[in-house]
Amino acid sequence: MIVLKSKEEIEIMRRAGQVVSKTLDMVGERIETGMTTGQLDELVEDFIRSQDAIPGFKNYRGFPASACISINDEVVHGIPGDRVIKDGDIVSVDVGSIVDGFYGDSARTFAVGEVSEEKLGLMKNTETCLQVAIDMARKGNKLGQISAAIQKTAEAEGFGVVRALVGHGIGRNMHEEPQVPNFGSPDVGPVLKAGMVLAIEPMINLGTHKVYTKPDGWTFVTADGSPSAHFEHTVAITDDGPDVLSLS
Ligand code: MG
Ligand code: MG
Repeated sequence: MIVLKSKEEIEIMRRAGQVVSKTLDMVGERIETGMTTGQLDELVEDFIRSQDAIPGFKNYRGFPASACISINDEVVHGIPGDRVIKDGDIVSVDVGSIVDGFYGDSARTFAVGEVSEEKLGLMKNTETCLQVAIDMARKGNKLGQISAAIQKTAEAEGFGVVRALVGHGIGRNMHEEPQVPNFGSPDVGPVLKAGMVLAIEPMINLGTHKVYTKPDGWTFVTADGSPSAHFEHTVAITDDGPDVLSLS
């Protein structure tokens, strides 16, 4: 069942979205070569709590940190720890928050130091995928139009669209119906209605779309070791078009 949100609930979700957006702004200012992912996670947790919000990922299904931090060939769900961020890395940071019982969810990939042109091209394409997807998040459209727009944009540049992980509805739960795949036909899925709130999150690989899970049980990596990028926004479908809630 897809839970529709009232206008009042969407305003609460906007506050949760603002917290994750401001957190990612802070990450963009602080992330640097030589820092560990654990140190970055500490900054994220402190910042979220300073905004009178609760870190949405901490202890979620046993996840031990406030941010998922995934470097280079890591796609998503990287566990922060002792790994040192190096010059030339691309670092995907995914952050969740809870405000008054509602979740916000957003992710960005950051370039640290001197990053290769091919990694920068992948990041730019993934951000474009998110933008074209948001533009399809309109009432009366099919959910598949979001998916198809992402796939078309990524594959036009020869990139791999991750199949094993998808976006999702969001609200009082981090993961609600419907699933929001980043691939597929425009003709499938439910018709979008005002009050739906979706976490749209293209995960795009420079090489194959295939991924596997590391022995830690959380971290997804690309099967061919190629880099991966991830951008995500929490988006409400409204009578007036898409409303991106995860903005600062
Ligand atoms: Mg996320
Ligand atoms: Mg998400």
